[in-house]
Amino acid sequence: MLSTETPPALTGDIVTPDHAEWDIARRAWNLAVDQRPALVAFPADAADVQSLIEYAIRTGLKVAPQGTGHNAAALGALDDTILLSTQRMRGVEIDPEARTARVQAGTLWLEVTEAATPHGLFPLSGSSPDVGVVGYTLGGGLSWLARRHGLAANAVTAIELVTPDAQLVRATADVHPDLFWALRGGGGNFGVVTAMEFELFPYGEVFAGMLLWPYERHAEVLHAWHALTETAPEELTTALRIMHFPPLPELPPFLSGRSVVVIDGAYAGSADEGAAAIAALRALEPEMDTFAPSSPAVLSRIHMDPEEPIPYRGDGAVLGTLDAAALDAFSAANQPGTPVLFGELRHVGGAVGRVPAGGGAAGCIRGGYLLFSVGLAMSPEMADGVAAGQAALNTAMAPWTIDKEYLNFVEHAVDPATLYDDDDYARLRAIRAAVDPAGRMVGNHPIPAAA
Ligand SMILES: Cc1cc2nc3c(=O)[nH]c(=O)nc-3n(C[C@H](O)[C@H](O)[C@H](O)COP(=O)(O)OP(=O)(O)OC[C@H]3O[C@@H](n4cnc5c(N)ncnc54)[C@H](O)[C@@H]3O)c2cc1C
Repeated sequence: MLSTETPPALTGDIVTPDHAEWDIARRAWNLAVDQRPALVAFPADAADVQSLIEYAIRTGLKVAPQGTGHNAAALGALDDTILLSTQRMRGVEIDPEARTARVQAGTLWLEVTEAATPHGLFPLSGSSPDVGVVGYTLGGGLSWLARRHGLAANAVTAIELVTPDAQLVRATADVHPDLFWALRGGGGNFGVVTAMEFELFPYGEVFAGMLLWPYERHAEVLHAWHALTETAPEELTTALRIMHFPPLPELPPFLSGRSVVVIDGAYAGSADEGAAAIAALRALEPEMDTFAPSSPAVLSRIHMDPEEPIPYRGDGAVLGTLDAAALDAFSAANQPGTPVLFGELRHVGGAVGRVPAGGGAAGCIRGGYLLFSVGLAMSPEMADGVAAGQAALNTAMAPWTIDKEYLNFVEHAVDPATLYDDDDYARLRAIRAAVDPAGRMVGNHPIPAAA
């Protein structure tokens, strides 16, 4: 039911299906996702967001906030829904004295790390420079400093949002504490975030980079990495990927057409301590070794994540402890010929596994490792092939999978109960019932209101 009421005049823009720019406006960062909302709105500020929610209240439309569309694949059908893109709401302010950052809703991580670099202050940013700060953080936020400082959601100090009844509010630990807790994990279910403030960590530089070996070395590298993770200090956060690249001119020669095993990550401390922490890996004489003292902006790029929209399929799971059989299963499911571009293991635990005092609804990740895989999906047939490869990988790792998932790494619809601890899920449902009884908000992982 698309209302006949004219959409409100905004400082930003509204694009309707009859508009020449419609196909560009409705596009997500993940180009494999075909978003077909009732209309797309590009608010310029919080007042625009309020006008849009008032319009939704009058017309019965729903509202799906979106920063970049990195996690668009999890959103369901968007009929009768305003896709509210925050991409025009940009801006970063760094307070070097207070060691905090304030961002507008559509800010990307690279914009924060570049602004923070002159101050030597590190945000808890993730592996991709162009993931949205708000979407990432509301889903938990696993950074290269995570085992030392926990999930990014717990470093948030204030969130400004327009609620489903169109009120602009500021939520902190002291004001609207339930909302402040629920947003940090419940994401787009509770309102449209317009600005967010969070802590920065004064390292100056951290010791970070990437080690690369030819695929033929993957078994010894995988076992050495796993042994390292079993005793690694919390300052060290690393990931291992087995990657199979097609021959593509856009890729650097050391990757194009090759299969490789890559370990990357960071040590939250000095270069000497960091070098000692990864000595067992360097002893395996990698073909490439970029570990060096790194600024926040450099840290944003060590994972070589794509910085332009791509069509892809991502899938993940949370694993408990791993043994030799688990490593063999991971190897066997990631051989050359797989339709999956890479299978990845990220080491979690440490502070990632603890909910700090005052933590949010996505307070921690239960488990020792995250499994994630990505495949290119240039066509529906390619997407089907990737899905089959990912299903085979997930099945191979099923004996080590725990029954909870990490929200940011879930790119399809799941039972939301699997994303939270049981008590937290019940509390989220109660808060949803209080804040959004009409079910106006459409999050990527919808939390049903308590009956
Ligand atoms: C290449 C790549 C690398 C990644 N690396 C990491 C990583 O290192 N660590 C990690 O934790 N995750 C990582 N992710 C996952 C990523 O954090 C999630 O996909 C996240 O949801 C992306 O946020 P976004 O705003 O960019 O995406 P979007 O799809 O725009 O947003 C995701 C959801 O967040 C909510 N949301 C966004 N903006 C608002 C708002 N203003 N108000 C209310 N709700 C909002 C909505 O529910 C929305 O559906 C990665 C993903 C990719 C594709």
